Amino acid sequence: MPTLSDAYSTLSREVAAAGARLVVVTKTHPVEVIRELYELGHRDFGENRVSELEEKHPQLPKDINWHFIGHLQRNKVKNVLPLVSLIHSGDSLRLLREIDKRASDRRVDVLLQYHIAEEESKYGLTVESGRQLLESIREQPLKHVRIVGVMGMATYTDDKEQVAQEFRTLHEIYSSVKEEFFLDEPTFSEISMGMSGDYEVALQQGSTLVRIGSRLLGERNYD
Ligand SMILES: *Cc1c(COP(=O)(O)O)cnc(C)c1O
Repeated sequence: MPTLSDAYSTLSREVAAAGARLVVVTKTHPVEVIRELYELGHRDFGENRVSELEEKHPQLPKDINWHFIGHLQRNKVKNVLPLVSLIHSGDSLRLLREIDKRASDRRVDVLLQYHIAEEESKYGLTVESGRQLLESIREQPLKHVRIVGVMGMATYTDDKEQVAQEFRTLHEIYSSVKEEFFLDEPTFSEISMGMSGDYEVALQQGSTLVRIGSRLLGERNYD
């Protein structure tokens, strides 16, 4: 059995060599695991539930960059804002307006989440709904929210070519949104794609942020 430290250094080197950053997804895992990775120098961690993040956050060092990666309900925005450095799941105009309203004086970085998989999902923008959102923001700008890129999840399948095609689609969405709406904003630069089962494909397709849990930490136990 390789130790966590060995597995971490192999994975983080692989991700860095591809020019991307690693977000370790720690949902369901105890704070001790996060502390161990923190001691190894890791700072970017992802959680997908507000209640779990609220429980873990006060027990851990303040210089962790927390990534919120799950669907965010509007009534949880005020709780999550003080805790996170990047919200990956910006999936509606109403959510972005709520974040903007609750941000008070700080700046909040958000990614636009697109639905690129074949599976049905209630969440994630289409090219068309994303365009409407961006046009509305152009008309009536957000004061505190800074959109810094896109995020998406591929279909859960062994078909690597399908996964590659979906990530390619997300990269194309990123490029056309940048061209049309963020040409003068170098901070619009992130493509969050790739999880344990498909991060290698995502890195090949230009991911800048991979979100990896089980490959590093083992299977999750939800009970
Ligand atoms: C759980 C989760 C991940 C990590 O999944 P693994 O397959 O364990 O790497 C990545 N992204 C999102 C949005 C998740 O909810």
